Amino acid sequence: MERILGARKRIALVAHDHKKDELLHWVMTNKEKLADHRLFATGTTGTLLEQALQLPIQKLLSGPLGGDQQIGAMIAEDKLDILIFFWDPMEAQPHDPDVKALLRLSATYNLPVACNAATADFMFAAPFMTEEYKALQTDYSMYLKRKLPEGGGDL
Ligand code: PGA
Repeated sequence: MERILGARKRIALVAHDHKKDELLHWVMTNKEKLADHRLFATGTTGTLLEQALQLPIQKLLSGPLGGDQQIGAMIAEDKLDILIFFWDPMEAQPHDPDVKALLRLSATYNLPVACNAATADFMFAAPFMTEEYKALQTDYSMYLKRKLPEGGGDL
């Protein structure tokens, strides 16, 4: 199975508070490339980036208020192609479970994720960024048809 990522990618940008400057710097360096894609962001990150980039960004809720989960839902519903998520490795977040869930869904659906500027640079240097890309997709149908434990009922 595969999932088609179009030439114009749907990209979500998220940065924890101590990483917002780093993301801001990265997007300014990559402004021209970003302009070719559709951009989404969690609330506070989105407001900062929109002011700096002067590009349209669809803003979701602030991360700790549900924005990370909204992005997770977009991944699960095949409404997102790429995640650029500068998370803070030095500080626990009040919404750590949401952060983990977002990274887990990215792995579940084989979604490209950059958690730092170097990975984002490599990603944006790839020809796939401006071409169609076929992402391999794990077939979860057997999981959906699994037999439930005694007393769980049949699907
Ligand atoms: P924010 O959320 O952009 O609203 O600050 C980021 C996050 O997920 O912590």
